[in-house]
Parts: sequence; structure tokens; C-alpha cells
Amino acid sequence: MTVKKALITGITGQDGSYLAELLLQKGYVVHGIVRRASTFNTQRIDHLYRDPHDPDARMFLHYGDLTDGTRIAGLLEQVQPDEVYHLAAQSHVRVSFDEPEFTGNTTGLSTIRLLEAIRVTGLPCRFYQASSSEMFGGTPPPQNEDTAFHPRSPYGVAKVYAYWATRNYREAYGMYAVNGILFNHESPRRGPTFVTRKVAMAAARIKAGLQDVVYLGNLGARRDWGYAAEYVEAMWLMLQQDKPDDYVVATGASHSVRDFVEHCFSHVGLVWRDHVRFDDRYLRPSEVDDLVGDASKAERVLGWRPTVLAPELARLMVDAELDRLGQGVVATASPSPAQALVGL
Ligand code: NDP
Ligand code: GDP
Repeated sequence: MTVKKALITGITGQDGSYLAELLLQKGYVVHGIVRRASTFNTQRIDHLYRDPHDPDARMFLHYGDLTDGTRIAGLLEQVQPDEVYHLAAQSHVRVSFDEPEFTGNTTGLSTIRLLEAIRVTGLPCRFYQASSSEMFGGTPPPQNEDTAFHPRSPYGVAKVYAYWATRNYREAYGMYAVNGILFNHESPRRGPTFVTRKVAMAAARIKAGLQDVVYLGNLGARRDWGYAAEYVEAMWLMLQQDKPDDYVVATGASHSVRDFVEHCFSHVGLVWRDHVRFDDRYLRPSEVDDLVGDASKAERVLGWRPTVLAPELARLMVDAELDRLGQGVVATASPSPAQALVGL
């Protein structure tokens, strides 16, 4: 049996780490692109790492930045993957208003760099694009594969570009290139400035007496929050079909930010109103009010169904923070002093 090779961009991120775990379990050799930073950024995948001299090593990391097309093409040529999962992005909506051009470059243009490199090298590999429910933005729910896009942030705009680039390369060159249109998905590995993780960390820290309040923005926004560990399975399934196609991945359930806060705080016996304060620095110049996905196509064609819904997700995320605190890992206050300086 031939061993499949996957290349993951964004392997150090939330989804990249779960996807690497899944593919290693399935017997793949996994190559990941890591950008050079002055501090370590591989915490989410450290538990998967084996020294490359170890004959059983099946995960290999390469330095590379998605803004560097020459490097991307060189890595594709070197690795010769069967499947490419393009997950790397500047993925924070609020930050994209501060860094719109950089977000366009990493989140939008990176997709065409990869697609073009695949086309030019002639590799017969399959390509997954991490598309986002943020593309629907202002279009009312429920949103499915046929819903019109109305992005409400530079991040959403960049993802729409990448979505169409993926479809265009499929239509123009017959490439096996798919868009997974994933609604918000969270986990204990979520970046600490996303609202779910920020609130889960705060609830645990307040319970432990390490902080008293947490500052939040718009509590009225509604999201369809699922569990990241389940969503990476859908990514893999999309690349195992006879024909390439695009799929929405979501739970179909809608919760406000306020609901999520309530679930986290009540789980540790706290009344959230006693600890949540408003700060307008967390508002966005234009907001996405309501996202609820209709993932019936993914269920019908891929056989994919989520099992973890937002209330359970909130509990598991708070429990993970309590565990971290119990093990002496002092989670950063939210926001950390440095994040507070830049307004996140
Ligand atoms: P994360 O922010 O956790 O991970 C992003 C990854 O991209 C990290 O590995 C990061 O590296 C890497 N990265 C960022 N910029 C560059 C660059 N210039 N060159 C190389 N690598 C870079 O995101 P998630 O795991 O949550 O999301 C994965 C993908 O799915 C993203 O494209 C995101 O936009 C998209 N998505 C996510 C959703 C969600 O709810 N999580 C919903 C829909 C789509 P580093 O670790 O060094 O920062
Ligand atoms: P997004 O859906 O990709 O923007 O994910 P986020 O977790 O960043 O934000 C989800 C929703 O929570 C958005 O509507 C935000 O406006 C809202 N929100 C309210 N307070 C905060 C906060 O303090 N931080 C973040 N990140 N979002 C917040």
C-alpha cells in the first residue's frame, strides 16, 4: 500500500494541529509549513513531533511563509504531496481591519500562489481551501453553498478572493480543488483572542481567583460554533470524493456571544453579569450579526455530522482551562498586557 503524503500550511494553528493528528492516525506522512518567529510557535504540534532521524518519524516541518511564492513552489516540488491543505491565514477578523493589506496578502493571495505553483509544477495533487462563513457576512441565515457572499471585513473580502481562485482553477484547469466553507469552530487550542477561548480562560481564571473581570465587545452577535477536532474530519473527507466540490460545514445551531458567556460562567457556578464589562475596543467597524450554517450537503454527500454543540463546547473549553490552571499553567489574562496595548 502506498503511503499518502499531505502538505499542511498553517500546521501550527488550531486546525492544522488537529488535522495533523488525524492524518497521522490515518497513516499519512505529514509535511507542515512553519513560519520563522523569534519565539516558538509549535506548541500545538509539539506532542506529535519525532526527531527526523527517528525511522518512525512521519511528520516533517519546513520553514516557509505564505507571502513567499518562490519558497512555496520550491516546497511543493520537494515534498510532492498527494494532498495540500491550505489553512494558513491571518485569521482574526478584528485584526484584519488594522492590517487589511497584509490580510489580503496572506489570507487571499496565498491561495493563488499555491494554486499557481501546483499548476506550474504539474503535480496531480488535491487542494483544500480553508474558506469561511465570514464570506456570507451580511447575508441573513441560514447560509448554504448557494448563499450570496457579502463579506463585512478585510478578512472576509480576502477569503472571497481565495474562494473564487479555488473555483476558477478547478474550472479552468480541471484541478481537484475544493472549498470547505467552515463556520466558527473552537477548541482548547483556539487562539486566545477569539471570543470563545477568551471567555473560557476568563471564567476559569475568575473561578480560580486570578482575575475578577473580563472586557468584551458586542454580546449580541450570533454564531454557529462547532468543535474544531470534528471539523478537520470534514476537510479530509472533501479530498476523498470522486469529484471536487464545495461544502458548508456547520452545526446548524445559533447562539449569541451572550449565550456562550452564560454557558462558560454557569459551568463554574458564576453569574456572568458580575464579571463581564463592556469595552468598545472589541467592536468592529462593520459586524457580522448572524451566522447559521446549513450543512445538509456535507451530511448527504460526505456522511459528516457534528456531535458537539455550543453548550458542550463551552463546558469542555472551560474544563480544559481549569486543567491547565491545575497543572500550574497560568493562562494569560485576557487580554494579556501586550494585547491590551494594541487593543485586542
Ligand atoms: P489559526 O489562526 O489558529 O492558524 C493560522 C495558521 O496560519 C498558523 O499556523 C499561523 O502560523 C499560519 N500563518 C499565518 N500567517 C502565515 C504566513 N504568512 N506564512 C505562513 N503561515 C502563516 O487559524 P485556525 O486554525 O483557526 O484556522 C485555519 C484556517 O481556517 C484559516 O485559514 C482560517 O482563516 C480558516 N477558518 C477558520 C475558522 C475557525 O472558526 N477557526 C472558520 C473558517 C475558516 P503561526 O502559528 O506562526 O501564527
Ligand atoms: P469571528 O466570528 O471570526 O469574528 O470570531 P471572534 O471569536 O473573534 O468573534 C465572534 C463574535 O464575538 C464577533 O461578533 C465579535 O464582535 C464578538 N465579540 C464580542 N466581544 C469580543 C471580544 O472581546 N473579542 C473577540 N474576538 N470577539 C468579541
